[in-house]
Amino acid sequence: MKPPKFRYVAPRTLDEAVEHLAADPDAKVLSGGQSLMPLLAMRLAAPSILVDLQHVPGLDGIEDQGSSVLIGAGVTHREIERSDVIAQRLPILSSAVVHIAHPQIRSRGTFGGSTAHADPSGEWPTVLLALGATMHAVGPRGRRTIEADDFFVGPFTSTLDEDEILTHVSVPTTRTAWSFQEAAVKRGDYGLALVAATGIPRDGQLAEARVSVGAAVGSVRRLTDVERLLSRGPVTDALAEEAALTAAASVDPISDIHGNSEYRRKLVASLVRRAVLELKNGA
Ligand code: FAD
Repeated sequence: MKPPKFRYVAPRTLDEAVEHLAADPDAKVLSGGQSLMPLLAMRLAAPSILVDLQHVPGLDGIEDQGSSVLIGAGVTHREIERSDVIAQRLPILSSAVVHIAHPQIRSRGTFGGSTAHADPSGEWPTVLLALGATMHAVGPRGRRTIEADDFFVGPFTSTLDEDEILTHVSVPTTRTAWSFQEAAVKRGDYGLALVAATGIPRDGQLAEARVSVGAAVGSVRRLTDVERLLSRGPVTDALAEEAALTAAASVDPISDIHGNSEYRRKLVASLVRRAVLELKNGA
């Protein structure tokens, strides 16, 4: 299939990229192209102009800042997979990244592109929500930050404005108890259900638990009922069982040709149980 006609620019600065976006409401940012180009080819998107970020400096790099790691929007999935900083400071990202497609796609697709795309089946939205990450954006009205809780608001929808560019994501490293769980038909496929859970081990218990679900639901979201359960006391096998039942009761899963709603509900319950048991070991 052929994409519709579009103009193409490759700005050399962030300011120039912002100017192009602000000048045309139908302009779109192009990062790794691993989601946008298929959408164009299938004629599901028809931007007037693509603003390619690949020559814009300052969107790369993975920087350890102590209590957080700052990841550039242009960092590829593959760079995350190979990063020692990520492996040591944010091992949940290392665990999740290998589930994203295949090495060829991971070599082109970017952390920022995936986050901005807000695909409920994407690994990064689920992981970033469970970690409580902060998004950094720039647009014609200046720079701003957006918390993950306020960023992912619907399927393929974030609170990033059409003329804004995601530049970095700041990911806290303080949530040292973590688990990432995915059920997929086979490695590299989009998941049927994703669960990410994190917390801060404190006095033999788990503090500030965050649990998120993706893929099985129309929009990535937190499982706040499960989080409340985890704050009740020490994480035990019985609590993991209760968390699984609570998760099953609190999701309204999607149905498609890959799995119906009831099947995905069972997957979510099973992944939450596994995640909580892993948190127990982490705490
Ligand atoms: P692009 O395709 O360039 O852009 C995607 C969208 O984000 C566009 O709307 C674009 O305008 C916007 N955008 C990009 N960068 C920015 C920015 N900095 N600021 C604002 N807006 C921006 N992903 C998964 O998570 N899991 C999978 O299992 C998976 N499997 C895949 C399998 C196949 C066969 C393919 C082709 C892709 C798959 N992907 C999967 C998608 C892949 O991870 C993409 O890399 C990712 O979704 C988008 O990143 P990108 O850099 O390619 O963004």
